Amino acid sequence: MTLPLIGHEQARTVLRGLRAHTLLFVGPPRVGRRLVARWYAQLLNCQQPERSPCGTCESCRLFAQSAHPDLRELSPVLETKTGRRSRRPQLRIGDLVRREDGPEVPLSTWLEARPRFNKRVGVIDGADALSEAAANAFLKFLEEPPSYAVVILIAPSVESVLPTLVSRSVPVRFGAVDAAIDLPEPHPAARLGRVGELLEAAAHPEAFSAQLSVVHSYLLALEKGLEEALERADALEKAWSEDARFDVAELLRARLGEWPRGPYAAGVAALERCEEALEAYAAPGVAVQVLTLELRDILRASRRL
Ligand SMILES: [Zn+2]
Repeated sequence: MTLPLIGHEQARTVLRGLRAHTLLFVGPPRVGRRLVARWYAQLLNCQQPERSPCGTCESCRLFAQSAHPDLRELSPVLETKTGRRSRRPQLRIGDLVRREDGPEVPLSTWLEARPRFNKRVGVIDGADALSEAAANAFLKFLEEPPSYAVVILIAPSVESVLPTLVSRSVPVRFGAVDAAIDLPEPHPAARLGRVGELLEAAAHPEAFSAQLSVVHSYLLALEKGLEEALERADALEKAWSEDARFDVAELLRARLGEWPRGPYAAGVAALERCEEALEAYAAPGVAVQVLTLELRDILRASRRL
């Protein structure tokens, strides 16, 4: 299912006037950066430039079917070589430039081929995950791209991207989106303006409610016996790693906001340590158990005061 594009009028106005070969879309995740990248690719390729994107020409129809020959999207893979799900996604050099063990047509080769319509548009979502080696290999292409090639880099911030890439691109900034979306329960993403997450929750209300209830039961269990708390910790860890549609850490952080200020600050710090441990490939079960023990200590200490 493709989510609808909401908001970002300012970014879209800027894009209509830009004629750059390399763009850097920066802004928080799940606000719609990738959807705007697709919209822009559609705009560039529309066959009726006076009312682009028209939505009716052959090019626009191919976009609607997610089958456009001149758009290619790359995003970091979540799988490691051993097949284990990685929490720190990586972009492979071979996906960008020709490598012995890479795919037949890496992005730079694909971008050099003539477009069927007006422009070849290559989107690299997660440009902050590019290693220095991968970025340098791709820079050679960015230095002299063919006139019909457009590259859109997507990242959370300018600072998160290697300076060599930043210096060759025009930044387009994305803010949080303020959208009224009906949900069974309030979602912390509303505060963060992450409209993609809100739409996902609205599209899958049962999965969203199930996720919320896992978080809710976990926090209740913290006040009960250790065994029950650790059982709920396992359920939380499972929900966390298995359903990437919802950000469990964010749901948990929002619920911790109901704690008094001192314990809240300590709880959020413990959660951040847990997230760091998970990103560093720590055993997820253990990381969440450590979090559970810390949160229990915080709660107990606050009761004694
Ligand atoms: Zn069109």
